[in-house]
Amino acid sequence: MTKSFIRAEKCLCCAECLAAKACTSRAIFRLDVKEPAIIDAQFCHGCSMCIEACKGDAIITGL
Ligand code: SF4
Ligand code: SF4
Repeated sequence: MTKSFIRAEKCLCCAECLAAKACTSRAIFRLDVKEPAIIDAQFCHGCSMCIEACKGDAIITGL
C-alpha cells in the first residue's frame, strides 16, 4: 500500500486543515494550528483523499 506524506515546507498551516477533514482514518492531525499538519503513517490506508483536499498541494503519495 502507498501511504501519503506531508511536505512540511509546502503546508500553509490553514486555520482549518481540509486534508484532515477529508481523511476518514483520522490519520492527519495538528499539534498546533501554527505548525504544519502531520500524517500518522500507521493509520494511513493510502486512499489519496487528502491529496485532493489539501489547499497547499502539500501532500504526496509514498516514496
Ligand atoms: S489543507 Fe494542506 S496546506 Fe492546509 S493545513 Fe492541511 S495539509 Fe497544510
Ligand atoms: S491517504 Fe487517505 S488515509 Fe492516508 S492520510 Fe490521506 S486521506 Fe488519510
